[in-house]
Amino acid sequence: DRAAASSAPITDGALADGTPIPLLANLGKPEGAADAVALGAEGVGLFRTEFLFLSSAQAPTVEQQREAYTQLLSAFPGKKVVVRVLDAGADKPLAFLNDAHEENPALGLRGIRALRASEDILREQLTALAEADAATRQTPEGPADLWVMAPMVATVEETAYFTDLARDYGIKTAGVMVEVPSSALLADRILAHADFASIGTNDLTQYTMAADRLLGSVASLQDPWHPAVLRLIREVGDAGRVHGKPVGICGEAAADPMLAVVLVGLGATSLSMAPTALADVRATLLQHSLDDARVIAEAALAATDAASARTAAHAAATR
Ligand code: PEP
Ligand code: MG
Repeated sequence: DRAAASSAPITDGALADGTPIPLLANLGKPEGAADAVALGAEGVGLFRTEFLFLSSAQAPTVEQQREAYTQLLSAFPGKKVVVRVLDAGADKPLAFLNDAHEENPALGLRGIRALRASEDILREQLTALAEADAATRQTPEGPADLWVMAPMVATVEETAYFTDLARDYGIKTAGVMVEVPSSALLADRILAHADFASIGTNDLTQYTMAADRLLGSVASLQDPWHPAVLRLIREVGDAGRVHGKPVGICGEAAADPMLAVVLVGLGATSLSMAPTALADVRATLLQHSLDDARVIAEAALAATDAASARTAAHAAATR
């Protein structure tokens, strides 16, 4: 019954054959941590730091940031917490980082490009993250396992720039988001520098299909089931396997239970989503082995469009 179900312990994410697939939360505020834990998040797969500062005219201070990051990290002792440095621009403009007059902000000075152009802000953010990590090491609960990643990385050179800089600040695990097709295509080179990759399927779909993620008139093209997007994700999964490095997914695609199975079949090793989506994804993963997931992924990859990929995956899953 309902009451019994809600008091039953929530198990960690896993496939039917026992393969662990950590299920993590996407968060924008440290205040969301308690709900995420209650819904069974095993950590945080994407903390969107720009959400803290969307209404700020000035760059946040190191102190402000340290406080927010300490609050976040203290909610997940011993757990993985992936923090993304500021992803400013396009759908998430920050007054202190972006030029409001770009004609094509989604293709402009955004994400890691904007941070590089205002490197002091990036250095301050890394300082605050390292200080928050150090502060939680003094608590009885102990620290979280802090991973830090850069958004909108398009080149191997940007990857090396960011991961070298982050390590200079004492960040032990430094990675990048793969949300631009160039990064997916060169994932094998990117993972030679980065400790991990996290695929942002919202932007990866937008840039693969050349369809603005905010524009309703092209919304039918903004579909992560599209085999063109799935092929790019497979590139990243294969690169992760070759390098023995984790490949997470943190776009909305991870919250679609059958697509989550496909993503695991393509090589994703963890999934991060809005905490309310965790239960359905957890239940669906438990119904399929890794071998099943690979077969289901192959069925989706063989399709010619998003709708038939979805149909083919569901058919393969019930076979
Ligand atoms: C993504 O692009 O899929 C992603 C997770 O980042 P955001 O949605 O914040 O752009
Ligand atoms: Mg993105």
